Amino acid sequence: MPRKMIKPGQVVEPHVKLPDINSHQIIADQDFLALVHSLAGLPLPGYDAAELAEFQQLQKNFATFCDNESYPVATALLDRTPSLIVDETDPRGANKYQPEMLALAQKYREAGFTGITGAKEYGGSGLPKALLGGISGPGFNTFPAQYLGEIVRQADIHLMEHAVAAASGDKKLMLENILRKIISGEYTAAMILTEPKTGANLGANMECYATLSKDSDNVVIIGEKKYITGLTKPEGTENSIGIIVSASMNEDGEVLVDKNGKTLVTVSLVPLYMLDEKGNTREPLVPNKIVTGKWIDKNTMRAQMLQQHDFTGAEGFVLGEPLKGWNMMFKVMDAARLEIAHQAVSHIYTVWQMASHYTAKRSADTTESISVAARDETELKLNRLRAFTICGASVLMKMGTHLDLVGLKDDEIPKANPPRDSIIKQQAEARDLLTVEAPMVKCYFTNQARKLMIDGVHMLGTDGLIQHQVKELEANLRPTDIYEGPNEMMAKQVVMQQFYPVKDHGAGSIHIESKMDVFVKQTRENLKEWKRLHTGVTTNSMIESVTRALNDLQEATNWIKEQHLERASGDKGRKELAERTILSAGEDYVDLFGSVYMGMEAIRIGRHAEVELYKMYEKFGSQEMKEKPEYKDMQDRLTIAGVGVHHFVGKNRPRVEEMKENYIYAKKTNEMDALILAASKLDYVSEARAAAVTRKTKVVELKR
Ligand SMILES: Cc1cc2nc3c(=O)[nH]c(=O)nc-3n(C[C@H](O)[C@H](O)[C@H](O)COP(=O)(O)OP(=O)(O)OC[C@H]3O[C@@H](n4cnc5c(N)ncnc54)[C@H](O)[C@@H]3O)c2cc1C
Repeated sequence: MPRKMIKPGQVVEPHVKLPDINSHQIIADQDFLALVHSLAGLPLPGYDAAELAEFQQLQKNFATFCDNESYPVATALLDRTPSLIVDETDPRGANKYQPEMLALAQKYREAGFTGITGAKEYGGSGLPKALLGGISGPGFNTFPAQYLGEIVRQADIHLMEHAVAAASGDKKLMLENILRKIISGEYTAAMILTEPKTGANLGANMECYATLSKDSDNVVIIGEKKYITGLTKPEGTENSIGIIVSASMNEDGEVLVDKNGKTLVTVSLVPLYMLDEKGNTREPLVPNKIVTGKWIDKNTMRAQMLQQHDFTGAEGFVLGEPLKGWNMMFKVMDAARLEIAHQAVSHIYTVWQMASHYTAKRSADTTESISVAARDETELKLNRLRAFTICGASVLMKMGTHLDLVGLKDDEIPKANPPRDSIIKQQAEARDLLTVEAPMVKCYFTNQARKLMIDGVHMLGTDGLIQHQVKELEANLRPTDIYEGPNEMMAKQVVMQQFYPVKDHGAGSIHIESKMDVFVKQTRENLKEWKRLHTGVTTNSMIESVTRALNDLQEATNWIKEQHLERASGDKGRKELAERTILSAGEDYVDLFGSVYMGMEAIRIGRHAEVELYKMYEKFGSQEMKEKPEYKDMQDRLTIAGVGVHHFVGKNRPRVEEMKENYIYAKKTNEMDALILAASKLDYVSEARAAAVTRKTKVVELKR
C-alpha cells in the first residue's frame, strides 16, 4: 500500500476534529427521549398528556436557547478559567462574572428557565420530577449550562416550597414572595451545608450554629461554611438567599442535642442583603454580616463557582420548625440526588456521542481492512455507554414518578380512575422506596459513570487526552460522586439507616427489618410474572441473570441483618466490629442493588422489543420484516438490553462473598480516619468563634 508522503512546508490538517456537541443534538434527540418516555411507561399518575406536550415544548425552548444563546458564550469563554474576573478594587478580593456570562444569565432568567420545576402558582413551569432529567440532566452537561450552575439549581426551590407549606400568616406571605423571586431569578439562592472542619460528616461535628431566641424565630448565625455555590448577587439580580443548615444553640450559648447526644439541626434563611418584613430587599441595600472569601479556583471544573463565607453575626430566621431541620432537608435531598444521577447519565450520553462520531469518522478515513467502528471491542464499549444511558435514564424516570407521587397534595389526588385509595397506597410505597432509591441512584450512577467515562475517552485516542472539551466533560462529571453528600455517605444511609431493630415484646427478642425487603419481594414477583409470560429466548436469559443478582441481593440483605443483630447484642466489641463490617460493605451493597434495578429496566426494554419483533414476524414473515424501519430499532433495543444485563448485572456486579470480607482487608480504614482527621486539623479555627462557642450542651426532648 503506498504511503502518503508529506512534503516539507505542507500544512497538515489536524487529526479528526471532535464534533462540536451542542445542546440541540443532545436535548432534541427525539429518538432518545421518545425511547426513554415510552420505556418509562408514561403517562403515569400525577400528570397528563397536556403536561407532556408542555414539557416537550419547554425542552425545545431550552435546546434552542442553549444553541443560540449559551453555546456561543461558552465557546468564547472556553479558554478563560475561571469564568470570572478578579476585581482588584474590591477590598475582599472578590471576583465578578465575565460580562458575557452576566448577559447570558439575564437572558436565562428572562426565558423562565430558573423555575423549571417550581410550582406554577409561584411562576414556575411546574415540570414533574419524572421529566426533570429531560432538561436539567442533559442541560447540565452542555458547557454553557455549567456556567449557569448557580441559577439552575432546583433544590433550593423545592426547599422553599416545603418552607412555604409549613408556614402560616404573614410569614407564609413573605416566604411566597421570596419563592416567587427565586423562581423568576430576581433572587439567586444557595444551599449552605459544608463546613471547613467537618466536611461531609455534618451531623456529628457541626460548628456553625443558629442562635435561637425564645420569643421569635429570628436567628443569629455563628460560624463558617465552605464550598458554597450561589450565595452571590450578580449584577442584574436583586439579592441572594442563603439557606443555612446548622447546629442549634440557645440564648445562653448552650448547644442543643437530643437525648442520644445527637446534634439538633435548624434550617435558617439568611439573606446576603437584609430584607423587610414582606421579603423585599431593603432600599438602599443593607449588607448582612457575612464575610465572603475569594472564589475557589476549581481548575478545569466549570460546574458552579464556590466560595467560603464567615456568617458570624449574620441575621436571619428559621425555615420550618427549629431543631427539626433534617426533616425538611431529607425531603429535598431526594430530588437533588435524582438530579445528580441525571447529570451522570447525561455526561455518558455526551461521551458516547463523541466516541461514536470519532470512531465512525476514523473508520471512514482509514484504509484498514476492519474499521475502528466495526471492531468488536469498540462496538461493545459503545453499546455499554448506550446501555447505561438508556437503561439509566429509564430507571431515573421511574424514580422521578415516585417523587411526583409523594409530592402530590391531597387535593391533587383524583377521586376516581385510578381509585383514590390505590394512589394513596402507591404514595406510601413510593415514600418508603425513595429512602433507599435516592441514595442508591446517586451512588450507583455516579460510580458507574466515572468508570464508563474512562472507556468513552479512551476511544477518542490522543484527542481524548488533549482536547479541552473532553477534559471539561471529565472534570465536570468528577464532583458528582462528592457533592450532595459523597457516595460513602449515601451507602451509609442505605446500610445503616434503612435496617432497623424491632423489639418483639411477646418473646422479648429483637429482629431486624429493612426497607430493602419490600424491593426484593416486589422484584421477585415481577420476575416470576415475566417468566410466566415467557416472551422469548433473549429476555428469558436476562431474567435468569437478574434473578441470580436478586438472590445475591437477598443473601447480602440477610447478612447485613445478621450484622445489625450483632450491633444490637449489647457487647461493645461485637457492636463495633459489626458496624465496621457493615460500613465496609456499604458501597458494594448499594452497587448490587443498583445493578438489579438496572437489570429490571433492561428486561423491560428487551421484552418490549421482543414482543414487537414477534408481532412483526407474524404480520410480515421473517424476510419482509427485516425491511421494515422499526426492525432495526427493535433489534437495537434488544442489543442495548442484552449488553446492559451482561455488563451491569452479570460481569460487573459486586460478589457477596468478597463483600463480606471487605472489612478484613480494610485494615487501612484506621489510617484513612487518621488522614481525614489530619486534613481537617489543617483548617484554621477562628479564636473568636471558639470563645463564643462554650460547648455546653443542653438536652432537648423532641415531640415526634
Ligand atoms: C462543584 C461543587 C459544588 C458544591 N456546592 C456546595 C453547596 O452549594 N453547598 C454546600 O454546602 N456544599 C457544596 N459543595 C461541597 C460538597 O457538598 C462537599 O465537598 C462534600 O459534601 C464533601 O465534603 P468535603 O469536601 O469536606 O470532603 P470530606 O468530608 O473531607 O471527605 C473526604 C473524603 O472522605 C470520605 N468520607 C468522608 N466522611 C466519610 C465517612 N463518614 N465514611 C467514609 N468516608 C468518608 C469522602 O467520601 C471523601 O472521599 C460543593 C462541592 C463541589 C465540588
